[in-house]
Amino acid sequence: MQSDLIQQKNKKKLIKNFEKVFGSNKNLSVFFAPGRINIIGEHIDYCGGKVLPAAIDKGTFVVISPSSKKYFSCFSKNENDLVNFTSKEISAKYPIFWVRYLMGVLQHLQTKTKTSPCNIYIEGNLPLESGLSSSASLLLVLSWALQYLSDFRYNENDFENRKQTALVCQKIENQFIGLQCGIMDQAVVALAKQNNVMLLDCEKFELEWLECNLGEDTFLIVNSNKPRSLIESKYNQRKQETDQCLLWLQRKMQITSLAGIPTEQLEEALSFIPVKTLQKRLKHQVTENQRVKLAYQQIAAKDNIGLGKTLKESHLSLRENYEVTGKELDLIFDYSIQNKSVKGVRMTGAGFAGCLIVLLPKNEVENYQNQIQGKYQAATGLKLSFYSTTFTQGVRKI
Ligand code: ADP
Ligand code: MG
Repeated sequence: MQSDLIQQKNKKKLIKNFEKVFGSNKNLSVFFAPGRINIIGEHIDYCGGKVLPAAIDKGTFVVISPSSKKYFSCFSKNENDLVNFTSKEISAKYPIFWVRYLMGVLQHLQTKTKTSPCNIYIEGNLPLESGLSSSASLLLVLSWALQYLSDFRYNENDFENRKQTALVCQKIENQFIGLQCGIMDQAVVALAKQNNVMLLDCEKFELEWLECNLGEDTFLIVNSNKPRSLIESKYNQRKQETDQCLLWLQRKMQITSLAGIPTEQLEEALSFIPVKTLQKRLKHQVTENQRVKLAYQQIAAKDNIGLGKTLKESHLSLRENYEVTGKELDLIFDYSIQNKSVKGVRMTGAGFAGCLIVLLPKNEVENYQNQIQGKYQAATGLKLSFYSTTFTQGVRKI
């Protein structure tokens, strides 16, 4: 496997980096969790919708070893920060924000088993706060590494363990970090399969796999390099708005989730929502869920033209109905649809800023990048970054 060869090379470098911080150690283990793109199904995981993500070959590495000290030591290369803390200091209010992800994992694990102090080196090659789910990647790689070290439930190939770990990491993000996210990111980072996209029913936690062969085309990730903070963004507000819609609708209709409302019942459902803005939120939920099913069929049928059209419709609904795109993502969308080689484009992840995915022929990637870079820079003063996509498997020991 090409990607695992690269990781074996990385491993030596990572161990050297660990040793620079913590000194040499014979008892080291190395883990990797991917980031992800979501092909379609945005902002509907927390409303019981279906989503279609895939894990990418960028992610977060952890090198870990048991320690004889009385405290935990962790270093993040991305944050360039070494932090020591004892079990007693574990708190969702810990002043160094990124350490809360580790503390959330430790706190959960401590309710199940004894965790002993360790040294943890973290290094990621995903852009942070950009919609490629560095947070789920960090949570899953830490959970996997700490389960391994404490010998708790660790089973590399057990579906149920991966599923439970994803659910715990979602809970940590909800309760420890304060983001009311759905299960998509954690599920795909835990369970992804190489070269596959994952159709996930977020209400039932049911999965289907689909091999993704785009022929002459590829998904290119475009990073607007305009970061955003989800905690400060309107993410939690959207969740509250949809909770309110569900409350109103359940008084009138027999439904268990918003996204699951059949299209034929959308007009009726809209008539029960007294606030115009919330009608738009509902419209996005129901139409986006339908687009996921359509996109799945289009990938299976190798209908890239149809798929591209569905992706564009998704972005437009996120822009007009859900209002989570923002100026930079819309600029890139508008420039991209003017480019004749582009089949489809949409924001990926929570939005507000961050990344988009573009579906286009492999041999047009360079032209596209050159064309769009200049326009974007002139308009915003920001420079775009581009990443190719290879779909990889979920969290693992390397
Ligand atoms: P996204 O998941 O889209 O990248 P989030 O806002 O959900 O964005 O999560 C980003 C946060 O996760 C960062 O601000 C940081 O606190 C934490 N994080 C992710 N990767 C790392 C890392 N390698 N080192 C330290 N913190 C990280
Ligand atoms: Mg995140």
